[in-house]
Amino acid sequence: MARDLGPKCRVCRREGMKLFLKGERCLTEKCAVERRSYPPGEHGRGRIKQSEYLLQLREKQKARRYYGLLEKQFRTYYEKASKRSGVTGEELLRMLETRLDNVVYRLGFAASRAQARQLVRHGHFQVNGRRVNIPSFQVRPNDIVTVPPSSSAQQVIRDATDLVSTVAPWLQADHDGLTGKVLKQPERAEIDTPVQEQLIVELYSK
Ligand code: SF4
Repeated sequence: MARDLGPKCRVCRREGMKLFLKGERCLTEKCAVERRSYPPGEHGRGRIKQSEYLLQLREKQKARRYYGLLEKQFRTYYEKASKRSGVTGEELLRMLETRLDNVVYRLGFAASRAQARQLVRHGHFQVNGRRVNIPSFQVRPNDIVTVPPSSSAQQVIRDATDLVSTVAPWLQADHDGLTGKVLKQPERAEIDTPVQEQLIVELYSK
């Protein structure tokens, strides 16, 4: 499955904020945003002419990279969200949040979304008792996410739970039993993704 393999810290520096793409390292002083808080590249410290388009583009890129998606995948989410009855931007975020890899990360069972994605791909999670190895799988309210006792990644997952301070309010996690539950669909106020989704909608609806 295609994924973005580019340098992750460079992405954070480009967006000017910590996007927590590298797990434990993001919590240390080695974080590139802490050390070099200007955009990457030869002209990183130069003046950038701001425009409406640039603002919209950066917001879209930030959201796309935050969830670790390629442009085509992100656009498909937008198109599906625009066909839903709710507010398009909120629906977009809701669909991204309820991806299984994101839910695993939000439950604290992985140190980053990239690690969550790999753990899911390698079949270390079950949803309602059935193994699911598709990172884009959409969870629904009352779904139960578990790590089967036979999983060889139990220790890795337990190590990840040590880094977690809070679990998203629409989820419930049992870190000792390595199980999680989806309590409900997330409301916008419960999604702490640092993006202004309206700008993404404006960009794509041009
Ligand atoms: Fe981003 Fe983490 Fe790299 Fe810091 S360490 S720049 S938060 S990916």
